[in-house]
Amino acid sequence: MLSKVHLPSSAAEAAGLLRAGGWLIGGGTVVMPRVNTGAVPVEHLISLRHAGLAGIRVDADTVTIGAATTLAAVGADDRLGFLHPVIRSIASPPVRNLATVGGNLLVPQPHGDLAVALLALDARVDVVSVDGARTGLVGEPVAPDEIVTAVHFDLPENWHYRKAMRRRHNSAAIVTVAAVLDGERTRIALGGVASRPVRAYAAERILRDDPGAVAEAAEAAGEGVEAFDDAYASAWYRVRVLPVHVRRALLGED
Ligand SMILES: Cc1cc2nc3c(=O)[nH]c(=O)nc-3n(C[C@H](O)[C@H](O)[C@H](O)COP(=O)(O)OP(=O)(O)OC[C@H]3O[C@@H](n4cnc5c(N)ncnc54)[C@H](O)[C@@H]3O)c2cc1C
Repeated sequence: MLSKVHLPSSAAEAAGLLRAGGWLIGGGTVVMPRVNTGAVPVEHLISLRHAGLAGIRVDADTVTIGAATTLAAVGADDRLGFLHPVIRSIASPPVRNLATVGGNLLVPQPHGDLAVALLALDARVDVVSVDGARTGLVGEPVAPDEIVTAVHFDLPENWHYRKAMRRRHNSAAIVTVAAVLDGERTRIALGGVASRPVRAYAAERILRDDPGAVAEAAEAAGEGVEAFDDAYASAWYRVRVLPVHVRRALLGED
C-alpha cells in the first residue's frame, strides 16, 4: 500500500531515493492508475515534479528538453512547431498537462508517440543514477535505478509525422510514423508495430539511394516488424496498413 510520495529537489536526491526502492513518476498518467487500482503494489513514489528537470532550451540548432517538461509545454513552444502535430496526437489536453517527456520515452507501445519522434530525430538521452551520469540514445535500455534527466537533438530540416488512430483524443497508435528526410541523415521511426519504437532501416536505405523512391520505401518499411494485437487493432491490420501510412507520411498527404 502506498505510504509516501517523495518530492526530491534534485535529480541526485531522486536517484538516491530510487536506489533505496520505490517507483519514479513524472506526470503519473501511466503510474497513478496502476497504483490506484492496486495493479502494482508500491509503498513509495518518487515524484520528479520539483527535481529541477523541467524546461526547454534551444541553442542555435540544438534543442534540449528536460525530462520533467510536460507534453503541453512542448506543444506550446513556438520554437518547436514541427513537434506540435506529435503532441496534438497524444492523449488529450488534460493528460498532456501532466504527462512528461521522460515518461513518454519509457512507456511501452502503442503509447510513446513522442518517443517515436525522438528516435527519428536521433535524440540523445541524459541519464543519472547514484553511480553517475551518462548519455545514451533513444531506444537504448534505461536501468531501473536510472533517471532520465533530459533529451537533446538537432532541429531537422525536412520533418514528417503521421499517426493513425481510431479517435482524435485518447486513442493509442495503430501506426505512428516519424521521419527526418535530410539526405544522409534520413531516419524513419515507427510506433505501434513492436513493443518499442523501431527504425525502418530498409526504407531508409532505399530513400538514401533514391529520395524519389517513396512507394518502394513504404513497401519495405514493414520488414522485420513484430506487430501485436490490442484493443485498437490486430497485428494483421497494423502490418497491412503500415505501407499506406508510411507513404502518406513521407509525401505529407492527409
Ligand atoms: C487516457 C490516456 C491516453 C493516452 N494516450 C497516449 C497517446 O495517444 N500517445 C502516447 O504517447 N501516450 C499516451 N498515453 C500514455 C501517457 O500519458 C504518455 O505516454 C505520457 O507521456 C507518460 O508520461 P508520464 O510523465 O505521465 O509518465 P508516468 O506515468 O509518470 O511514468 C511512466 C513510466 O516512466 C517512468 N518514468 C517517468 N519519468 C521518468 C524519468 N524521468 N526517468 C526514468 N523513468 C521515468 C515511470 O517510472 C513509469 O515507469 C495515454 C495515457 C492515458 C491515461
